[in-house]
Amino acid sequence: MNINKLYTDIESFYPKMVDIRRDLHKHPELGFEEVRTPKVIADFLKKICLEVRTEVGGRGVVGILRGKKDGQTIALRADFDALPIHEENDLPYTSTIPGVMHACGHDGHTATLLGVASVLSNYRDELKGNVVFIHQFGEEVPPGGAKPMIEDGCLDGVDVIFGTHLMSTIPLGEIHYNHDYLMAGGDLFEITIKGKGGHGAQPHETIDPIVTASQLVMNFHHVVSRNIDPLHSAVLTVGAIHSGDALNIIPDEAKLGGTIRAFDPNVQALIEQKIRHITESTCTTTGADFEIEYMRGYKAVRNDHDKTEYIKNISADVVGKEQVIETKPVMAGEDFSNYLHEIPGSYFFTGAMMNDPEQVYAHHHPRFNFDEKAMLIAAKIFLTAVAKYQ
Ligand code: MN
Repeated sequence: MNINKLYTDIESFYPKMVDIRRDLHKHPELGFEEVRTPKVIADFLKKICLEVRTEVGGRGVVGILRGKKDGQTIALRADFDALPIHEENDLPYTSTIPGVMHACGHDGHTATLLGVASVLSNYRDELKGNVVFIHQFGEEVPPGGAKPMIEDGCLDGVDVIFGTHLMSTIPLGEIHYNHDYLMAGGDLFEITIKGKGGHGAQPHETIDPIVTASQLVMNFHHVVSRNIDPLHSAVLTVGAIHSGDALNIIPDEAKLGGTIRAFDPNVQALIEQKIRHITESTCTTTGADFEIEYMRGYKAVRNDHDKTEYIKNISADVVGKEQVIETKPVMAGEDFSNYLHEIPGSYFFTGAMMNDPEQVYAHHHPRFNFDEKAMLIAAKIFLTAVAKYQ
C-alpha cells in the first residue's frame, strides 16, 4: 500500500471525521446504556461493506475488513461511551443530553477509527491479512466493555492490537508512549464496621465503630510503606469515612472506603490481602463485626516492548522524531489492559491540546475539549501501522 496515498485519502476524509465526532458529541450516551452510538457505527461500517457484528459482549460493534492477500490480523480499538457530566461548553455541537457529556474524547476515538476503516476499505485488493475494528462500549464503567467483548470473540484470530487515547493535556503533534506499563491498575474497597452503639458518656458499654475505623485508616497506611517493595509503585487512599450524627452518641456503624492503584498485579493482590487481614485482626481486637466489599477494577495497561517500538517508529514518520516522547506511566486506569492481557499490542497517547490555553481542561472536566486535528494524526498512525505491518 502506498502510504502517501493513504494520507491523501484520510486528509480528504477529515471533514467527514469532524462531522462524525461532532454528531456523537451532541448525542453522548453513558457506558452500558449506549443505543444510538453503536447503531451509527454499525450503519457506517455496513455502508463501507465491512463484515459487521453488533451487540458484541453487550453493546460492542466489530467490523472486519478482509484483505485479498494472506497476512496477519491487526485489531484497532476505539471506545465510544460518555460520562455523567453536564457540559459547560458553548459550542455548535455541545451535548444535547443534560448531564451526559463526551468529556474524555471517546467521540474522537470513534470518528478516527471510522475514518481509518473508510480509507482502508478501498484497499482490500492490496491488503495482506485482515483488520478488525473494535468499537468498544462502557470503558468508563468497571468492569468495562472490553472483557465481555473479548469473551464474545472480538479477539479471535487477532495477532496484534493497537489503540490510542487523545489527550487534552498533551500538546498537539506529540505522541507519548511507554514500552512497559503505561497506566495503572485500580481497585475500590468499602468496609462496614458494625459495633454496638450507646451513650457517649458510657463507652464501656459499647463497641465503638469510630475508634475501629480510625485504627483501620492508620493501619492501612502501613501497607504501602512497610509491605510493598520500595521499587514498586502503589497507592492506597482512604477517600471516604462516614459515621455518627450526634456529638454525644456512639453510633452502631461506621463505613469507610478507598481506592488502590498499582502496576504489578502481584502488588494489587498483596494490598487486597493486607486490607482483608488488617480489617479482620483490628476488628477482632476491638470486638466489632465487619463486611468488606473489594471491587477489582482494571488491570494495569502493560505494553508489548516490540509493538511499542513499532508504534514509536511509525509515529516518528507521522509527527517527527522529536515529537515522539517516552512518558512516565500514569496512575489512571483503562480497560485496554484486558486486550493486552490476551495478545501483544501497544496503547499510546495522542496529543490533542487546544491551541488557546484558556480552553485547555483535563479529561472529565465539564469544559473538556480537544483539538480535532489530533484525530487526523492518530488516523495516520493507525493507517501506517496497518500498511507497514505486513
Ligand atoms: Mn477515556
